[in-house]
Amino acid sequence: MRSIGHFIGGKEVKGTSGRTADVFEPMTGDVQAKVALASKAEVRAAVENARAAQPEWAATNPQRRARVMMKFVELVQRDYDKLAEILAREHGKTVPDAKGDIQRGLEVAEFACGIPHLMKGEYTEGAGPGIDIYSMRQPLGVVAGITPFNFPAMIPMWKFAPAIACGNAFILKPSERDPGVPMALAELMIEAGLPAGILNVVNGDKEAVDAILDDPDVKAIGFVGSTPIAQYIYERAAQTGKRCQCFGGAKNHAIIMPDADMDQAVDALIGAGYGSAGERCMAVSVAVPVGKTTADRLMEKLIPRVESLKIGTSVDPSADYGPLVTREAVEKVKSYIDIGVKEGATLAVDGRGFKMQGYENGFYLGGSLFDNVTKDMRIYKEEIFGPVLSVVRAKDYHEALALPSDHDYGNGVAIFTRDGDTARDFAAKVNVGMVGVNVPIPVPIAYYTFGGWKKSGFGDLNQHGPDSVRFYTKTKTVTSRWPSGVKDGAEFSIPTMK
Ligand code: NAD
Repeated sequence: MRSIGHFIGGKEVKGTSGRTADVFEPMTGDVQAKVALASKAEVRAAVENARAAQPEWAATNPQRRARVMMKFVELVQRDYDKLAEILAREHGKTVPDAKGDIQRGLEVAEFACGIPHLMKGEYTEGAGPGIDIYSMRQPLGVVAGITPFNFPAMIPMWKFAPAIACGNAFILKPSERDPGVPMALAELMIEAGLPAGILNVVNGDKEAVDAILDDPDVKAIGFVGSTPIAQYIYERAAQTGKRCQCFGGAKNHAIIMPDADMDQAVDALIGAGYGSAGERCMAVSVAVPVGKTTADRLMEKLIPRVESLKIGTSVDPSADYGPLVTREAVEKVKSYIDIGVKEGATLAVDGRGFKMQGYENGFYLGGSLFDNVTKDMRIYKEEIFGPVLSVVRAKDYHEALALPSDHDYGNGVAIFTRDGDTARDFAAKVNVGMVGVNVPIPVPIAYYTFGGWKKSGFGDLNQHGPDSVRFYTKTKTVTSRWPSGVKDGAEFSIPTMK
């Protein structure tokens, strides 16, 4: 059986804690590897390596740091197919979807290639007599990223690419369910010329996470995962004064206005609701048709599409989606479908009975569709994270706008309409962090920032884009005077610009 250790000091090292976790192949249900779970001492070793290497990396000029990132981009492109296959076999998503996971991460590494420009400070000449002011951005030191199972390439790259380009050393604690790609990415960074110790991967569970949280040398933490853990990490990191941003779960609504192009809306709902088996933080899990006629038209088109979804193995290029990540994930989603039925929602399509021929032990689940879901139901309030779409019927636009705005989660939302006024009003008023207009998964591109509101995001600043440079650097402001003849004596009041 393959065993996966940690990546510390520029190479893979064996775990020494004696604890491991199974890494499954979701399409067969087999255990394909054992991943080491780090102890506090192993986390400490990684942090010490990072701390020792960081000052020299920070002193490396930004153009050279950018060149490492450029080379890394080239190497990931070289290994695209290999990485996508590892990812699909550990996560369960299909190979084409795995390629998208890698690509969206890589775009942030491409963004980080602009670090010489992105890190520039500000300068004001002559702010007072003989006085110039300038600001500079300096790296924080050792920073960490704790990432979820559902984007094992994209989210680690969203974290470590800007952080490292800014001159920090990085500790990545990826999900223990699919550690293969994060380990491979660390190797590629070394091949690209990154000095040993600047990117370390510590595999593990709560013990490793708590060790990172309590380590005084870790100055910032970027977390992505479920809301209860996001909140826990945010609170614990704040107690020790770490900079922290924690992105959590989601319940993304898609509003379908009566004037929407219904075929386009249905295509969007099918792709965004069931792609990756619904295991995306930007998956659409609630559809809100406005008015009875719209709802009836939508259901008429949606039901046959959900019934005819093609579920396949992770390596079947014709599959719409593959297996879920674990058996527990399948059981959890099924239990939500049971709850929805008990709560009185109409189960228009039931995916619970789906069996994948020849892969009976794999973690498969058919697509399910609920109609007549209401605000008080648990299947509406809670994140299901599976191939289940809930239809909540709204009587008018105002009721539709209020649904995502009043929901606890506030990650993404979309509106389907042909009316510019409605779209503009919706984008301005909806209480959610990322908005799509006729776009079902409005994940902003790398040079904008990504972040949800309310229970979908704790802490300051968003991920990637300009905010990532702000998050991974601290600003120092220098006020300097070269008097050359200016003499104003001792000043006892606070200096002001007269
Ligand atoms: P998770 O919260 O179970 O795990 C995330 C990370 O936290 C992992 O590295 C895991 O090892 C660690 N962890 C788990 N339990 C812990 C504990 N008790 N103490 C300390 N650390 C712990 O999330 P997941 O199941 O891996 O990922 C799916 C979740 O992530 C969904 O809720 C999804 O919406 C969310 N997500 C959010 C975004 C976003 O940007 N908002 C993006 C992707 C995924």
